Amino acid sequence: ATPTSIMVGTGRAAELGVLFKKGDALQILQDVDVVAFDKTGTLTEGQPRLTNIMVAEGFEESDFLRLVGAAETKSEHPIATAIVNAARRENDELPKPENFLSVTGYGVGARVEGKELLVGADRLLRQQGIDLAGFEDIAKAWAERGKTPLFAAIDGQIAGALAIADPIKPSTPSVIGALHKLGLKVAMITGDNQATANAIADELGIDYFSAEILPDGKVAALKSFAEQGLKVAFVGDGINDAPALAAADVGIAVGTGTDIAIEAAHVVLMSGDLAGVANAFDVSQRTMRNIR
Ligand code: ADP
Ligand code: MG
Repeated sequence: ATPTSIMVGTGRAAELGVLFKKGDALQILQDVDVVAFDKTGTLTEGQPRLTNIMVAEGFEESDFLRLVGAAETKSEHPIATAIVNAARRENDELPKPENFLSVTGYGVGARVEGKELLVGADRLLRQQGIDLAGFEDIAKAWAERGKTPLFAAIDGQIAGALAIADPIKPSTPSVIGALHKLGLKVAMITGDNQATANAIADELGIDYFSAEILPDGKVAALKSFAEQGLKVAFVGDGINDAPALAAADVGIAVGTGTDIAIEAAHVVLMSGDLAGVANAFDVSQRTMRNIR
């Protein structure tokens, strides 16, 4: 490609809200086979809400939410924000958590009102030897509706389960359709559980997905495409997406994402609207066609 055509292409992309930090990403994009998306905050709004609670016998729903909400006050995860917001609506003040501990991709632990709380994915509780009996069916039903099920233990016993819903962005379905039309495959890489990821992938017509991926596993998931000789663009927003954004053939950061993600990426969308992803491919193909 001539420097002039690249300049014209990056200029046109900028008018469409897509910032190419370097011109070479515009060239590499036309060779991409797979577009892999992070889920939370990229395909979805990333502002989840608490939608369901089910407590074990002997627990009051209001006590449960107060304790779980208190345990989550020190976490910055969007899931924590959803739970804390719900707990604050019912309690003027939440008790202060002690000995707070957060394990990325698993959940949190804390002592609240003298009780030991654990809140997180099924694997967090199982790892601590806690039986989820009685909550597996409801969790499965929530997950099949695309919600994220969480479990909470109090003093080593399962005390209840919660469902979090994170709506899909309005721009997501049309972008996936546009990428398919361009002949690309679409993938999703998420830390969320298998059943929830499956429901969302089905709903959106996503070709491949990897679920229950811990933050340092996103780069490995991209490598498996490279091993098949496929070139990958990765689209993400979070701090934990930064390594994958840098490692992808083309890393595309969502404009509403964290500074660290934006710094690591080769291409930045100027807003949270995913239409820019399809526009980036479109401009790339037009630019490369003109010079041939
Ligand atoms: P994603 O890639 O979807 O952003 P994360 O790696 O951030 O996912 O989180 C993966 C999973 O870890 C969540 O779906 C949830 O089950 C659990 N988790 C993480 N942080 C918390 C928290 N603060 N409270 C409860 N569960 C959490
Ligand atoms: Mg994210």
